[in-house]
Amino acid sequence: MTENNAGNTEPGSARQGGAGIRYSRDDEDIVTLTIDQDGPVNVMGAGFRADFGAAVQRLEAERDSIRGVIVTSAKKTFFAGADLRELVQITKADAAAFAREVELVKSLQRRLERLGRPVVAAVNGSALGGGLEIALACHHRVVLDRDDVRLGFPEVTLGLIPGAGGVVRTVRLMGVQAALPLIAEGKQLRPAAALKAGWADELASDLDDLLAKARAWVRANPDAKQPWDAKPGAVGVKDLKPMDPNSYSLLAAASGALRKETHGTMPAPEKALAVIVEGALLDFDTALEVEGRYFTELATGQIAKNLIGTFFFQLNEIKTGGSRPSGHEKQRTAKVAVLGAGMMGAGIAQVTAVAGIEVVLKDVSAEAADKGKATVAKQLDAQVARGRLTEEQRDAVLSRITTTTDYADLDGCDLVIEAVFEKRSVKNEVNAAAEAAARPDAVIASNTSTLPITGLAEAVPDQGRFIGLHFFSPVPKMKLVEIIRGAKTSDATLARAYDYVLQIGKTPIVVNDSRGFYTSRTFGTYISEGVRLLAEGVHPALIENVAKKAGLPVGPLAVHDEVSLSLSLKVRDQTLADLAEAAQSAEATARIKELENDPAFRIIEELVRDLDRPGKAGGAGFYDYPADGPKRLWPGLAERYGRPDGGGVSEQDLRDRLLFIQSLETIRCLEENVLTSIRDANLGSIFGIGFPVWTGGTAQFVNAYGVEEFTARADYLADLYGERFRPPRLLREKAARHEAF
Ligand code: NAD
Repeated sequence: MTENNAGNTEPGSARQGGAGIRYSRDDEDIVTLTIDQDGPVNVMGAGFRADFGAAVQRLEAERDSIRGVIVTSAKKTFFAGADLRELVQITKADAAAFAREVELVKSLQRRLERLGRPVVAAVNGSALGGGLEIALACHHRVVLDRDDVRLGFPEVTLGLIPGAGGVVRTVRLMGVQAALPLIAEGKQLRPAAALKAGWADELASDLDDLLAKARAWVRANPDAKQPWDAKPGAVGVKDLKPMDPNSYSLLAAASGALRKETHGTMPAPEKALAVIVEGALLDFDTALEVEGRYFTELATGQIAKNLIGTFFFQLNEIKTGGSRPSGHEKQRTAKVAVLGAGMMGAGIAQVTAVAGIEVVLKDVSAEAADKGKATVAKQLDAQVARGRLTEEQRDAVLSRITTTTDYADLDGCDLVIEAVFEKRSVKNEVNAAAEAAARPDAVIASNTSTLPITGLAEAVPDQGRFIGLHFFSPVPKMKLVEIIRGAKTSDATLARAYDYVLQIGKTPIVVNDSRGFYTSRTFGTYISEGVRLLAEGVHPALIENVAKKAGLPVGPLAVHDEVSLSLSLKVRDQTLADLAEAAQSAEATARIKELENDPAFRIIEELVRDLDRPGKAGGAGFYDYPADGPKRLWPGLAERYGRPDGGGVSEQDLRDRLLFIQSLETIRCLEENVLTSIRDANLGSIFGIGFPVWTGGTAQFVNAYGVEEFTARADYLADLYGERFRPPRLLREKAARHEAF
């Protein structure tokens, strides 16, 4: 047997082109290509392209004397996909050169699958993106049937499509209908599902079995050919026939459904659909070209950069402890007390128990506590019904939740999470009692959405152990937890809270104490801007529709109804009272005046106090909620507040006001040190308050817009619509220095 790096025909010669793919030929003349790039995973960057080229060239040179080829990897995963560090640097100016690189990879894959010898992928771990594309360019795929193995194309979630033949080969393997959700939704399949779908041909129980099966297939199939090369020139897509109207009704429906969901803000799934349809009607090689062009367009565009930056790099930073104080050993939480078994408490108990942690769920009465646990049981039952959870798993989760009314049962808890009524006195009482009953070093956390953490901390003797853990509703679904550091919270407490949030599989952001923290404060600007637009005479339907067209998941009036208009009034009144009580600074006086004269609040007061329309829970708000149909905007809104000229606000200004107001508040949070990192700003805004995904978050929105252009545009909005749009000092400084956030 000879083993050396592809391209270096002399064993033991220096590493050069080809070093990342080992080339070994056994005594049966089967060549094994073992991909082993520098770094923890294999990625498709410049290094890989050179290695792959060298390997293919050598295979062609030795073709007549070899029996076949096995492609596998030396890592735990088969291949991780594109080199995103490289990809995120590509600009529009590089498009032509980039397209040539893409073409090169495709042509190497074509040469491999047309070598004239059987080529088998021995997929020894997850094959994602470019990794799955390599496997699909082999004639046969044997996949290791291990729990952590996934096959899939996550590209669309990063604003891309598979660009190295993944779309074209998947469509030809399984047809348009089956390929569509896999590509346009970025679904990842376990080995058994991949086998069923057609990405995998065989499963193997362990690594020996994997290679044995690959070898056996090579021996048995000397004349292997790809289905698309079996009949040259054939279109070969089973469920899409040129000129057949039936083929197209399905695609029209898919395109409509997509549009309804993304409102045209996400180009990647749309381009995926385009490649699927256009490619299905072309011969194989032309289809590959079409795929490459759309891929290049996406990869050089801004939205892919926004998504890769936020959802890959920044999210990874958070998961690897980006905002966690260093120097504190990672700790696992073993037993959590949840105070209050209401909507939030039940959700927190559920996600904690699902993560394998013991939970003591406490409320004022046994009925209330049991009701909380019953809520959890109902949620889990629904998952069992959908096949996402087995009955045993459900029972195990429920057995970890103990309900009680007695503080003595908090014995041994290393974390207390308080989720009782939003009332300072109630919270102070339960936190003090829980602190006395839990472990002496327990972290005490409040899930308050509005009360400053520094003040709540005074209820316990050691304020260093007090912190805010702000969950979002519905807890099992929402990925974010906003961790709030009070003035006296210790680093050790923050580190433990951070570890717990990761332990339950959520994404933590860390903010400093301030009214509304980061997320509620920024979200507040969005919903009040919606009411201000209404107060200016803009038609309510236009406000809601422009918001959705901008990629905001719910219009500002609809979401305001959900949080309730009466709550908005309560928060405003509390803010006024606090401001009046605080030092009489000129700033506070100005803010009081602003709030008292805010035309948005005049509308809210009228709706709540005069018209009995307090929001969705109260049965009526900006919307009507008929028992027998979907909600609709209350016609009285346009009649009362609408103006014939529609307020004179252009659609572009309307859209920008809804987005800018949130980014400007984010910049103020950065300026005031409420936020200390851009990643927390971006992920907090998307996961917590629904800022449009395509932007990459409130801070990235400014960067992508251009900091100077954003500043100028904010000045324009301030001149026209009010000082709240005036650029804060930090923004002006950044603009002057031509610096991004
Ligand atoms: P909820 O009214 O559904 O639940 C509160 C629960 O606390 C009730 O079951 C009540 O019986 C219990 N309780 C009251 N006094 C208690 C005591 N002394 N000891 C033990 N239990 C007691 O309220 P919720 O919506 O779950 O909100 C709870 C907290 O979470 C509030 O601070 C709220 O501001 C915050 N929060 C709510 C949301 C949301 O969307 N609802 C989001 C984030 C944070």
